[in-house]
Amino acid sequence: MSIPSYEVFAIKYAERDGRRPDHFLGGDPHDAPMPLDYYVWLVRSGERTVLVDTGFDAGMAAKRNRRLLRAPHEALRLLGVAAADIRTAIVTHLHNDHVGTFHDFRNATFHLQDREMSHVTGRSMRQRLLRRPYEIDHVAGMVQLVYRDRVAFHDGDAEIAPGISVHLIGGHTAGMQSVRVHTRRGWVVLASDASHLYEHFENGGVFPVTYNPAEVLEGYRKLKELADSPRHIVPGHDPLVLQRYPAAGPGLDGIAVELHAEPAR
Ligand SMILES: [Zn+2]
Repeated sequence: MSIPSYEVFAIKYAERDGRRPDHFLGGDPHDAPMPLDYYVWLVRSGERTVLVDTGFDAGMAAKRNRRLLRAPHEALRLLGVAAADIRTAIVTHLHNDHVGTFHDFRNATFHLQDREMSHVTGRSMRQRLLRRPYEIDHVAGMVQLVYRDRVAFHDGDAEIAPGISVHLIGGHTAGMQSVRVHTRRGWVVLASDASHLYEHFENGGVFPVTYNPAEVLEGYRKLKELADSPRHIVPGHDPLVLQRYPAAGPGLDGIAVELHAEPAR
């Protein structure tokens, strides 16, 4: 039986300024501007549509000083997808920039790692440093969805649908998971924050917000095992993603790209 192939899109919904030393544990001797992009990802075929992460909303952008360019559900519209069409959503981890608009997807079941839910409702959240990227309203909202049978839990690697699977990486957060998707060019891996930037998995750098740097570094090996090549790994916040892949259609330059297409580099 052949494995179905999917289209995969990275959709930028926000951005922020930054400098190189902000993005590497231990700093970086080369002090230069290095902005970050914020994405959600869409996986689809004729039969199936899966959203990977939900981004944040205008309130969160104001609170955390990010530039919201378009609400994630509006960004999906540009690709012809309505929020109500999303029945399956994978949440790579519960940081505010990945789960923040879950309430816009009223028909979705959210796929989450056991360990992430334990982490955000357990003793680690007594630590200001560890809870800072989370929002209590997002966490409480996800707990409410558990009681409404709208959260699917995974303990490690799991198939979501033929050709789509989640893989526990840990490291950045306790329950960080990446997503592997079969496409016409082979197996693509949406690393999400298992590698914020290309430079992280390429050179062994670690983003400063981290639960366990050893797991982050070990995670790079796993990402490379899961992907057909390093050119099949898509980092979670790298502006280069929009430069390397073709636009998803007319008028979508700098907004949405096709990750199932060959990258330029
Ligand atoms: Zn993130």
